[in-house]
Amino acid sequence: MKIICVGRNYSEHARELNNPVNETPVIFMKPDSSILDRRLPFFLPDFSNDIHYEAELVIKINRLGKHIDEKFAHKYYDELTLGIDFTARDKQSELKSKGLPWELAKGFDGSAVVGDFIPFNELSNSEEILFSLKKNGETVQNGNSRDMIFSIDYIISYVSMYFTLKKGDLIFTGTPAGVGKVAKDDALEGFIGDKSLLKVKIK
Ligand code: MG
Repeated sequence: MKIICVGRNYSEHARELNNPVNETPVIFMKPDSSILDRRLPFFLPDFSNDIHYEAELVIKINRLGKHIDEKFAHKYYDELTLGIDFTARDKQSELKSKGLPWELAKGFDGSAVVGDFIPFNELSNSEEILFSLKKNGETVQNGNSRDMIFSIDYIISYVSMYFTLKKGDLIFTGTPAGVGKVAKDDALEGFIGDKSLLKVKIK
């Protein structure tokens, strides 16, 4: 099982980190060991002093596919949830400045938080999926799938030119503006619409 992630998929978030808006999706992966056991809190790692939350819609692939045409991409998923792409921003900045890959900043243990999946057909409007993240009870991120630079179907088509998608693979589709640092004892809660799909304590 693999976790494919899209970077800079919302222009306001690209701007808040002073990144250019790319013409093709920015793709990176997390190993399966990055998935946070939902019974556990997220433990701040020793190698970073600047761990950021990034709330993202997460799609689960439901069948094998490669070279998927964008117009058939919707057949390859039927569930989604909210996830958090925890990022060691200080480590990422160091790697970016050297032109090095991001994996150490993005793929560490516990860096992929995956909420409870819900079927797409439970959404009131699958063209405008609203999602949000609360930190200590206050909303810190608000997203709308309509604002994605690259749509879910485009992302599936694009990545499947390079990687065979397998049942159970996850795609983190990018974060909107409002990313920020977490500290010990923070509590995060993620929503699609008003449905709470994940809770995580920071330790
Ligand atoms: Mg992200």
